[in-house]
Amino acid sequence: MSQSIFSLEGKVALITGGNRGLGLTLARGFISAGAQVAVTGRDVARNHAAAAELGAGAAVIPMDVRSEQEVERAVARVVEHFGRLDILINNAGIVRVGLVLDSDRQSYWDEVIESNLTGPYLCARYAAQAMISGGRGGKIINIGSIVANVGPTDFASYAASKSGLVGLTNALVVELAPYNIQVNLIEPGYFDTEISQGVPAHLREQMIRKTPAGRWGRPEELIGAAVFLASDASSYVNGARLRVDGGYLVQERLRQE
Ligand code: NDP
Repeated sequence: MSQSIFSLEGKVALITGGNRGLGLTLARGFISAGAQVAVTGRDVARNHAAAAELGAGAAVIPMDVRSEQEVERAVARVVEHFGRLDILINNAGIVRVGLVLDSDRQSYWDEVIESNLTGPYLCARYAAQAMISGGRGGKIINIGSIVANVGPTDFASYAASKSGLVGLTNALVVELAPYNIQVNLIEPGYFDTEISQGVPAHLREQMIRKTPAGRWGRPEELIGAAVFLASDASSYVNGARLRVDGGYLVQERLRQE
């Protein structure tokens, strides 16, 4: 792997929300590709479990992405521990299910926007400052969602937060290009993790019928796209929206069983 343009050998990655789900899978994938990895999360037990799984080479840092102070401290800890920061994956996120008409502003709207949009803004800001100080450029990968492109029933705040991430990505591309920092967005389709546990069986069935691949994604199927966008292989890829959705978004009709 070390000779490959996809190698992450010598690079340091910070993955928010890396104590479980897609973030933890990406952490494993990045370690296999040669990176040193720091993951963050709030849940103490999950953080311990992630530390045990990823091994002594990885750092697990308690951090709430909504807290500017915690974000600033976490980025400083990564640089102190590993001596550099090359890659940020803005992965932490939550979803709240419900209709706009019935919703509670605090839990349905504010918490989602703060976690999924303000968090990535804060992380990008402090991580980019560290990358600029390092003088080697860097990569920021935002984890959006295919729902930024459609009108999902039941999770408007989530869709709005992920659409906002598209705008943030575009603006960061332009602002950070002079520092050799590339910023790209991955838009996953449906993957079986905790965030998708609440999807009722009949909706799951519908989503599978709308997916040309005929199934939900497996978390490890996100690794290739993220390694590509984190590596030298994507040095001229800036502002891309890379869908990893089994073809969901281009399917016009439900597949016949
Ligand atoms: P999970 O619920 O399994 O994991 C979410 C992660 O985010 C956890 O590590 C959680 O840790 C962390 N997190 C949540 N809120 C915060 C916060 N305020 N501060 C710090 N960490 C936080 O979900 P997934 O792994 O599936 O989701 C990862 C990303 O992928 C999300 O951005 C999600 O929107 C996106 N995505 C997922 C899809 C799917 O089908 N699974 C589809 C499209 C996009 P803790 O609670 O300990 O803080």
